[in-house]
Amino acid sequence: MQLPRYHRLRRAYYRLEGSRCPACETSYFPPRGICPSCRAGGLQPRSFSGRGTIYSFSRMHQPPRGFSEVGPYTVGMVRLEEGPLVVAQLTDVDGVEVSIGMPVEMVTRKIRENADNGYIVYGYKFRPRMPLPMALAASPEPEEVVL
Ligand code: ZN
Repeated sequence: MQLPRYHRLRRAYYRLEGSRCPACETSYFPPRGICPSCRAGGLQPRSFSGRGTIYSFSRMHQPPRGFSEVGPYTVGMVRLEEGPLVVAQLTDVDGVEVSIGMPVEMVTRKIRENADNGYIVYGYKFRPRMPLPMALAASPEPEEVVL
């Protein structure tokens, strides 16, 4: 992706910001100016939770041009809790059996590095969402506060 285009889309890429139609309440990602469902204008920005489930996925063995250093990777279609489908690379899935319906969450990661002009592109990926007991076990013990 060219740098100006990336710069224009950075809010969508860093914060998973889409838009929501005030007329029919459908949410879109990436953001739209006019609602494809009901043709209403004036769509409002909407930030998504980043939580969703795997709708479909595919293991990529032949990366597209510019991603050759990434090697084989998994791309998923994620159904966000708010409705839109997002296509993104899955991360932290080594040794994980990816399955349809698996809960995932968005994380910001390095997407690519352009050695020619030195910029590093960050963006969203999705990783498996830990079930709550594991998430609690992984977080450090809260420190006791004495007042
Ligand atoms: Zn609409």
